[in-house]
Amino acid sequence: MTQDKSASERMEKIVSLCKRRGFIMQSSEIYGGLNGCWDYGPLGTELKRNLKDFWWRRMVRERDDIVGMDGSILMNRQVWVASGHEATFSDPMVDCRSCKSRLRADQLPEKDGKLHCPVCGSFDLTEARAFNLMFKTYVGATEDESAITYLRPETAQAIFVQFKNVLEVSRKKVPFGIAQIGKAFRNEINPRNFTFRSREFEQMELEYFCRPEDGVDLLEYWLKERLKFYEDVGISSDLLHVHKIPPEERAHYSQGTYDIEFHFPFGVQELEGVAYRTDYDLSQHQKASGKSLEYFDEETGQHFVPHVVEPSAGVDRTVLALICAAFCEETITDQKGKAETRTVLKFHPRMAPIKCGIFPLLKNNERLVGPAREIVESLRPHMMVFYDESGAIGRRYRRQDEVGTPFGVTVDFDTIGENGPSNQGTVTIRERDSMKQVRVPIGELKSFLVDRIN
Ligand code: ATP
Repeated sequence: MTQDKSASERMEKIVSLCKRRGFIMQSSEIYGGLNGCWDYGPLGTELKRNLKDFWWRRMVRERDDIVGMDGSILMNRQVWVASGHEATFSDPMVDCRSCKSRLRADQLPEKDGKLHCPVCGSFDLTEARAFNLMFKTYVGATEDESAITYLRPETAQAIFVQFKNVLEVSRKKVPFGIAQIGKAFRNEINPRNFTFRSREFEQMELEYFCRPEDGVDLLEYWLKERLKFYEDVGISSDLLHVHKIPPEERAHYSQGTYDIEFHFPFGVQELEGVAYRTDYDLSQHQKASGKSLEYFDEETGQHFVPHVVEPSAGVDRTVLALICAAFCEETITDQKGKAETRTVLKFHPRMAPIKCGIFPLLKNNERLVGPAREIVESLRPHMMVFYDESGAIGRRYRRQDEVGTPFGVTVDFDTIGENGPSNQGTVTIRERDSMKQVRVPIGELKSFLVDRIN
């Protein structure tokens, strides 16, 4: 099988698992969907929440120098004028005169040295024109020019325009950062690769403000921190690639940009950008609003516009990377010696949507079901658990393997002392990846699990 074919089959299996087990579904599916928009089902929502919570913990709660904010999606249009988005946030597009497809000019295939339409093969293409990626909308009852604004195409601008307010209320000194997680919208010409390029997505962004002389070092610092983050959520470094953007491809204001890329089945693609944006954003808003966004340095008595380093990550792309990195098909031999394929999502326990499955060995035996339900209630305040009493125990383990549940707890006849007193009051814990089982006293179960999922 060629590499391409096996990679695309792998991707098909991942998409199908996501739908079948309720991770990710097409938005508005019963009406035929909406291109570039996705809904997260029960498990996908847990996974996404775990990712965002861990980002927040790492970037805000565990640090002294970063605070959070939650800005509005709709903002004054002038924000987008000043930031440059209204004039330049666009992709170059061409139209095919034959089949009327609208295409990204920078992604056209070449034949005999000439660009052509990938849909119908025609060479009859229009000149490239800029197509703005922002979704335009109207605020209020009248749809005229004065009511125009946009759904934000990135979360960062809310941070820049609130810089002064947040600085004052948090009483931080540079270097310090403002972090935010939220929705962003881009009218992408060609949404593709499942959730990778969507029209509605979420970002996790940090703007880290600093003295101009510290920007270059802080860019390197944040690249390292962010790579460590991916390791800590279970994306190993051999699946990541750091692409240093050459000066001629960087935004004109940037003094250094790295893309952190992931080996998706459909290619090596960007997960996060880490950019040293100088004082561009704050200066633009200072100029356009007429309000000072300078920082007063008490130590040196200087006033200056802080520089900024921005690690900007996509929630949905990282969720997809987590699923792709975790997806695994293994051949194992069952108790009767028969080989079978086991599908496992090997999520880091910290990211797994369900932390622990709880199973009474038999369904109709109240003496097993009762303690199993008590365990469920005792663990529930601490983690996401799932109770399952239907089917053979092996099948129940497999169902949890397929959604990445790292631990399975079984209440059996030993637990209730039916095979003698030695194991009474203990349960078996089965570990997903090794499939090994250990017996643990019920009283130690919570701390056993909590130690491993945080
Ligand atoms: P690309 O080159 O892939 O379009 P970008 O360089 O325009 O991405 P940024 O503007 O740097 O992306 O946005 C920061 C992050 O937001 C990206 O690294 C990505 O994770 C996420 N992101 C951007 N566009 C999309 C999208 N259409 N769908 C999902 N996530 C996105």
